[in-house]
Amino acid sequence: MRKIYLIAAAFVLLLSVLFVTPASASSKKLTVHFIDVGQGDSIYIKTANGDDIIIDGGNRDGSDVVSYLEKQKVKDIEVMIATHPDADHMGGLDEVLKAFKVKSIYAPKVSHTTQVYKDFLSAVKKEGVKIKTAKKDVSIPLKGVAAKFVGPVNSYSKSDLNDWSAVLRLVYGKKSFLFTGDAETKAETDMMNSKETLKADVLKVGHHGAKTSTSTAFLKAVKPTYGVISVGKKNSYGHPTSDTLKRLKNSKVKVFRTDKQGTIIASSDGKSITFNTKPIQ
Ligand SMILES: [Zn+2]
Repeated sequence: MRKIYLIAAAFVLLLSVLFVTPASASSKKLTVHFIDVGQGDSIYIKTANGDDIIIDGGNRDGSDVVSYLEKQKVKDIEVMIATHPDADHMGGLDEVLKAFKVKSIYAPKVSHTTQVYKDFLSAVKKEGVKIKTAKKDVSIPLKGVAAKFVGPVNSYSKSDLNDWSAVLRLVYGKKSFLFTGDAETKAETDMMNSKETLKADVLKVGHHGAKTSTSTAFLKAVKPTYGVISVGKKNSYGHPTSDTLKRLKNSKVKVFRTDKQGTIIASSDGKSITFNTKPIQ
C-alpha cells in the first residue's frame, strides 16, 4: 500500500514539474498591444525583459492611453516613440509624459506648428529628457530584443509629414514586428531601396490602411503573416480603403482591425506569435 502512495507522490511531483515549468517560461513573453484609440495609433510593448515601450499616443487627450497603461501596471516607460507630429499619433503623448516617468524619447527631426506639437515639446521639456532623432540605422539599446529604426531614410518636405514617420523594426527571438506609423509609398520605396531588412511577421499597416501606403512591392519586401490596422469606426477618411484590403488579401496577410475588434494584443515567446482574437480577413 505504501508503495502505491510513493508512486502517486512521485507522479504528482512529475506533473507539477511538467506544468509549473511552462508557466514560468510564459513570463518570458513579449507582448504588443495595438490599443483601440479610434482614428489614430497607440502601441504599447512590454518586452520579455520587462521594459515598456510606447509608440504614439492616439488622437484624444491621452486619458484613454494613460488608463490602459495603468491597467497594465506600467510604472515607468523606458522608451517613447513619436512617429511623426500629426495629432492622431502625437495627440495623447503629453498626457502620457505627465502620468509616467519616461526615460528616453525618439522622434524624427521634423517640427510642426500645431498646438499638439507645442504641447508635446513642453511636456518633453518638463520631463527633462532630450529627444533623440529617429532615423534609419538608429538602434534603441534594450535587453533581449533588437530594436532598430529602418526609417525615415531621407528628409522630406513638411507637407509630407507622413513620410517622415519613424519606422521601427523589433526582433524578439525568431519573430519580428514592423511599426510603420503613417509612412506612405515614397517612404516605403526609400526603405526598400536602402537595402535594409524589412521582413516582419507582424506589420502595423501604414497610415490606417490608406491607399497611399502598403504597396504591393512593400508587402513583398516585408512578407508579413499578420497585418494590424489601427483605425476608427466610420472615420471620415474612408480608412481602410478597399484597395489596401485587397492588396493585403492578395499577399495572403491575415488582417486584424481595431475598429472592428478593439485592442489587438500579440504575444510571442520568440518562436511563435498568438493573438487575443482571430483575424478578420
Ligand atoms: Zn495617422
